[in-house]
Amino acid sequence: MHELSLAISLLDLLEERACLDAFERVQKIILEVGELSGVSIPALRQGFEVATKGTIAEGAEMDILEPPGTGWCFTCEQTVAIKDPFRTCPGCGKSAVTPTGGLEFRVVELVVS
Ligand SMILES: [Zn+2]
Repeated sequence: MHELSLAISLLDLLEERACLDAFERVQKIILEVGELSGVSIPALRQGFEVATKGTIAEGAEMDILEPPGTGWCFTCEQTVAIKDPFRTCPGCGKSAVTPTGGLEFRVVELVVS
């Protein structure tokens, strides 16, 4: 499962940070998961819960921001809203758009103690 491996890499990152910044618990994690990232948020939450059992991040609250998918159309010369990264332009229906937003998968903020 893709989301479980993402959750495990996330935990690795948290443990690395805990070492560097000397904290013992992660209370809250704020993530950005773009609409075009292909990540299933319910599966990620579930994966995170499983991956963090007995770790510094067990029971941590998870807030997820979802930046909308956007892409650039060279024909229309404008940014358009898209729901998947391989979409043709909803404006002209011809050109493939280059995704410019919504691909994020990153930690925005951590609340630790
Ligand atoms: Zn277009």
